[in-house]
Amino acid sequence: AAMRHLPYFCRGEVVKGFGRGSKKLGIPTANFSEQVVESFPSDISTGIYYGWACVGNGDVHKMVLSIGWNPFFKNTKKSVETHIIHTFKEDFYGEILSILITGYIRPEKNFDTLEALISAIQEDIEEAKRQLDLPEHLKLKDNNFFHLPEGKIESNN
Ligand code: ADP
Ligand code: MG
Repeated sequence: AAMRHLPYFCRGEVVKGFGRGSKKLGIPTANFSEQVVESFPSDISTGIYYGWACVGNGDVHKMVLSIGWNPFFKNTKKSVETHIIHTFKEDFYGEILSILITGYIRPEKNFDTLEALISAIQEDIEEAKRQLDLPEHLKLKDNNFFHLPEGKIESNN
């Protein structure tokens, strides 16, 4: 059921998140605006996904993505957060993030400890890296979606 909407293309501005300190855990997540989140199919499963991402006209990198309920808004709103598997020199708030979701890893979970959460995310990242090297996912890296001519990028918001 989680696969029903895949592959899923999405483009939008990177906004400030909710200061849950992902960056301090070494796993920064680029958040989409509420408008972009609301453009997602309302019946898309929450959980952890993987796929490809690019910032502005930059290179295409592997990513893991969380679609989840946002405790900040008493779980009435979803959030969509992308961790790009790449080390960036600088933050990219305000830039246009393009993502292509190609696969699903697992549903949302609660963890008893911060250590358990971090190790689950590390496992998600390793799983995403492995899956994205398979031909069926790798071929989507070169999708035209990521190669729009400069100045022609339109955001969802
Ligand atoms: P916020 O709560 O504002 O989302 P985070 O701690 O989740 O803060 O950090 C996210 C920000 O970190 C992104 O908006 C982006 O500007 C920056 N960033 C740097 N490297 C990455 C990366 N590899 N993946 C995602 N975001 C990154
Ligand atoms: Mg974030």
